[in-house]
Parts: sequence; C-alpha cells; structure tokens
Amino acid sequence: MQTARTTEQWRELDAAHHLHPFTDPHSLNQQGARVITRGEGIHLWDSEGHKIIDGMAGLWCVNIGYGRKDLPEVARRQMEDLAYYNTFFKTTHPAVVELSHLLSEVAPEGFRHIFYTNSGSESVDTMMRMVRHFWAVQGKPEKKVLIGRWNGYHGSTIGGASLGGMTYMHEQGDLPIPGIEHVEQPWWYKYGKDMTPEEFGLAAARWVEDKILEVGPERVAAFVGEPIQGAGGVIIPPSTYWPEVERICRKYDVLLVADEVICGFGRTGEWFGQQTMGFRPDIFTTAKGLSSGYLPIGAVFVGDRVANVLVAGGDFNHGFTYSGHPVAAAVAHANVKALRDEGIVDRVKNETGPYMQERWRATFGNFDHVDDVRGVGLIQGFTLVRNKATHELFPEWGTAGTMCRDIFFENNLIMRACGDHIVAAPPLVITKAEIDEMLGVAGRCLERFE
Ligand code: PLP
Repeated sequence: MQTARTTEQWRELDAAHHLHPFTDPHSLNQQGARVITRGEGIHLWDSEGHKIIDGMAGLWCVNIGYGRKDLPEVARRQMEDLAYYNTFFKTTHPAVVELSHLLSEVAPEGFRHIFYTNSGSESVDTMMRMVRHFWAVQGKPEKKVLIGRWNGYHGSTIGGASLGGMTYMHEQGDLPIPGIEHVEQPWWYKYGKDMTPEEFGLAAARWVEDKILEVGPERVAAFVGEPIQGAGGVIIPPSTYWPEVERICRKYDVLLVADEVICGFGRTGEWFGQQTMGFRPDIFTTAKGLSSGYLPIGAVFVGDRVANVLVAGGDFNHGFTYSGHPVAAAVAHANVKALRDEGIVDRVKNETGPYMQERWRATFGNFDHVDDVRGVGLIQGFTLVRNKATHELFPEWGTAGTMCRDIFFENNLIMRACGDHIVAAPPLVITKAEIDEMLGVAGRCLERFE
C-alpha cells in the first residue's frame, strides 16, 4: 500500500523515523535512501522510474524472482482460511504439514524433521540451542562449545552474531557470548598462496582439528560453517576442505552444521550447498530462498541422528509464536514447489549457472585490479586487488569495494561489496540474455573504476 507522496517526502520521513539495519544514519540525512517501489523478474523500479537490475536477489533471497502472481494468491487464500494458529501444545495445520512433507522430499536423504523459525538468525539460534540440548540429554552438558569461522556470517541475534566471525559486529553489544570459538576462513587467495588449493583445503580443515583439540573434544558440541561463505565475500573453499572437515568432526564426535541460509534452495545449482561442496552435515539451517523472501520464514533441517535423540528427549523448550506460521508456510510451499516443478533449480545447474560462470570470468578476468574471479551456480565474486602478480590487496580494506559498488548502483545495477570482494547472486530465474545485460553494465562500470 503506497501513499501518494513525492520521493523527497519519502526520503525525509524515512531519515526522520526509520533506523535502518547496517546503515550509518548520517548517510541517509545527506543523500536519502533510494525508494524501491516495484519488482518484476530480476528487475526493480525506484520511485523516480529507474529500472534497476537486482544482481543480489534482494539480500540473496528472492530466488524465484519478483512479481509472481501465484504466491500472493496462495497467501490470500490461506489468510482467509486460517490466518494464524500456532504449532505449540499439540496443534498443527495443513499448511505446515504440507510444507514439512515437501521439504523432506527436496532435502538430502536422512533429513526428515524440520523446526520452523522466522529468519536465518532465528534458525541459527535454534540450532545453537538444539545442538547443546542434543548433548545434554545424552548426559554431556559440558559438550557445548560451538566453533564458527572468522568472517563467517550467521545473523544478527546475540547467538548468531557471536557465532559469526564479523569482528565489527562483536564490537557492539559485548559479543561473542561465552562458549563460542572461531577458526580462520578457508580463503586460499589470502592464506594459501604457497600451496595448491587442494593442499590448502586440507590445511584449513586442520585448523578446525587444532581448535577441537585445543578446546577438548569432550567440550565441543559442533562446528558450523556456510558451505560457501556469502556475506564474507563468496569465499569458496577448495574441494578438499569440506570432506576433510566432515572426517574430522566424525573422528572427534563433534556435530557438523551447515548454515544454508544463502546456499539453500538452488543458489549453487543443487538444492543445497552441502551437495555442491560434497559433505553431509547433521543439521542445517535455512531461511531466505525457502520463501524467496515473499514472507519471512526459516527452517532448521534436523538429520536422523539428532532427531532421534530430540524425539526421545521429550520437550525442547524452544519456539516462536510464528513457528510454522500458516501463511508463510503456504507461500514457502508454493515457492519450493515452483522452484522444483518449473525446473528452476535444474536450470541453474545445467544452463544459467554454467553460462554465468563462463561470462563472469570472461567479463572480469582481464582487468588489472580484479583477481580471484570465482563462482558456482548463481553465486559469484571477485576481489579488487592492488597487484595481481603478487596477490597484494589494497591497504585500506573496503574502500575500493565501496567505490565500485557505488558506481554500479549509480548505473542501476545492484551488486554488493563485502570489503573489497565484489559479489553477485541474482534471482535464479535470470535468463542468459539477462546475464549478458547484467554483465554488460558491470563491465562498463568497472572500466570507469579502473
Ligand atoms: N546465516 C547466513 C549464512 C546468512 O547469510 C544470513 C543472512 O544473510 C543469516 C544467517 C541471517 O539471516 P536473517 O537475516 O534472515 O536473520
């Protein structure tokens, strides 16, 4: 519902009353926010009529693209039938039952139980309590340390931000909370130059083993990582990393958790990033692509080993008023069904993903200050560097990235800067012609940057 106001009025009211996430309010007072009013496919329109290519699918979430007509219709019907009821205290409803059934079909084998949340952060916090509870009900309450990674992102709640390795988040709100450890990220370009990527993958996995031994395996509940680090800058570990991490977790009886909030629901060309990266977690967390952002919903997929213990363990004293919200569940069901039945995930794997990767490398590979051009499926990045030959990064991390991102934005293309990593993750419905359009704009912008 949009009130008829001028763009200037919207900007002024926004700056006066709206505290934006991850945004310096001074910047809003100076320029004002861009007012986004409409979306269709991979495109957005702002209040001044500019057509924008959304190379980020919102916040890595609008997998199915903007402007679907079927999802609002499903929401409307569900709202009329049952706008709300909860799933606490022995009640359920058809929307959440159907969603759970469908999710157990698209999930890798052995994931038959799902716990609902409203966001990625809540999925992560739920998982953190769940893994500690898993060990406690087996008589091991001291097995409660969670190991995450520096520069990993697991959300903004106190638990998620603690587990994440963004130090600028730890600096606010007295984080991390106790019982959290971090290891270095598997970023070959920065930490592994003197090894092959495969050797480095094994070396980076040993950082996990070293940390488990330092803390003591009897105190470590779980290791948690994004299959591909998203907000950390699309850091894709070498192929050897995840299988070795899995082996290490099994060796020390530590649960392995994948945070699939970005990688899940087709982003990497498989349904889940763990399938692309070749490992089997015990639990994985999701949100974003589950509903393609049409309504807030998240889900924790619980593998059989953990589910059997939880089911035997009685009450898990955890849940949200809106866990399994009927309207969000109905919309998520329609979204996941469309991703499957319209062949959208398959297309990312077989057609648009490979095409994007080829064009991404061809577009950016030859710039003087662009290196480590990388990606899989429809998630990709490159790093702005001072010297390609020596792998030297710019001294002030993030300045070049922000400049570059701003040039894209002025030219009606949204791609994101994570420090000096430039990343993209467009809606999965992007066509080959739209990939050409997006990379054409990006290439011309980068010429201006260089
Ligand atoms: N986990 C990962 C891997 C994410 O990328 C994000 C958000 O970007 C989150 C968790 C938090 O999700 P939300 O913002 O929905 O709370």
